[in-house]
Amino acid sequence: MKAEAVLARAGEDGVSFISLQFTDIFGTVKNVTIPVAGLASALEHGMNFDGSSIEGFARIAESDMVLRPDPGTYAVLPWTMPPERTARLICDAFDPQGRPFVGDPRRILKDSLADAAAMGFGFNTGPEVEFYLFKGNGEAELTPVPQDHAGYFDFSPRDLASQVRNRIALALQSMGIAVEAAHHECGPGQQEVDFRYADALTSADAVVTLRYTIKAVAQNDGLYATFMPKPMLHAAGSGMHVHQSLAAKDGHNVFDDRNDPYHLSRLAYNFIAGQMMHARALAAVVAPTVNSYKRLVPGYEAPVYICWGQINRSALIRIPASLPGNGETSTRCELRCPDPSANPYLAFAAMLAAGLDGIRRDLMPPAPVEENVYEFDSLMLRSRDIVSLPGTLEEALQELERDEVIAAAFGEHTFRRYLEAKRQEWDEYRIQVSSWEIGRYLRVL
Ligand code: GLU
Ligand code: MG
Repeated sequence: MKAEAVLARAGEDGVSFISLQFTDIFGTVKNVTIPVAGLASALEHGMNFDGSSIEGFARIAESDMVLRPDPGTYAVLPWTMPPERTARLICDAFDPQGRPFVGDPRRILKDSLADAAAMGFGFNTGPEVEFYLFKGNGEAELTPVPQDHAGYFDFSPRDLASQVRNRIALALQSMGIAVEAAHHECGPGQQEVDFRYADALTSADAVVTLRYTIKAVAQNDGLYATFMPKPMLHAAGSGMHVHQSLAAKDGHNVFDDRNDPYHLSRLAYNFIAGQMMHARALAAVVAPTVNSYKRLVPGYEAPVYICWGQINRSALIRIPASLPGNGETSTRCELRCPDPSANPYLAFAAMLAAGLDGIRRDLMPPAPVEENVYEFDSLMLRSRDIVSLPGTLEEALQELERDEVIAAAFGEHTFRRYLEAKRQEWDEYRIQVSSWEIGRYLRVL
């Protein structure tokens, strides 16, 4: 959509306000709202803002930044009603000299996509976002009380969760996101929404949109939605598995080779090998919180070990069986370690950089593992050369610090700031005295 079309649509939609949005390095949505009267000027000249207080953005001296709306991202926020009806536009950030700002996560993904394009590829991603619906308790202090006690794929039409899922799907569809499926997940109150794969930039915009839309719709029903990776000790965590493939300039899927037993081409194997090689560093970006590592444990269908396979949900990378009929186009590899607390722009940029590194170096992955890896003991793991993902955020950050490929994809500014901010998060956590420690030690020591 072009600028003129956006102006016309805003008029037809009876929009009063425009929310100009972008994300900080954590993927948190930031916005400035302008009256619709300012839309034409914002589209033409951009909008000044002070970037100095945004995580990962400018230093104080470079605080006069400019937001330029991407007209293709126009969407009415469906929970806003006249006279306050609001549309959002996702923006790119520019520095005071008018150059694309190096710390803008959306820019970093665009740069990675440009690298792939230079090699002749487009990067498609299809994220599966899991989340929990908890009862709102009206208190400032939230407690995780599941909204229901249903399980995987359960059908309970009169149940609030299925109504909320439908409302979420309708809200997302009205914002241009094609929801392919929504279902109850394994955990009590746990849900999943999947939408159609698209180029990685469109998908990353959609993940950001989906997170706040789900929160807004849930809130209207007195619930709260959380994308925290592991909100409850004895229940499944929430992942954001990402289906990935590369497309040639003419659109055909270069991951497909019908002659291979897994229908994977050499390029696909290279890509998988690259992600496996960088997996321990990649974890710090795709599973970016202290809590992320409480999800990556055996027994809950989240990956722990760096291996790949077809039927194996304990593997880091899974090759989903393609449906008869849409064979070639649907060949893909599913990376299972990401969770929905990740910044999707940085996550997709790092995933792509790791995969392309595998292609550049013509790396090949080890043999697939089709057994349940959770059941392997340490000797078995060692004899099969299977390495684990990091067990903590700190371990992941140590790996990330040494990863030159992800460093190059992020650029120095963001790479440094990201490590610094995440180390701070770890240090804050590390000094906490938890209720587990009190229970374990207070009496006996
Ligand atoms: N919730 C699981 C995870 O943390 C995944 C379940 C599934 O296979 O969809 O990754
Ligand atoms: Mg799932």
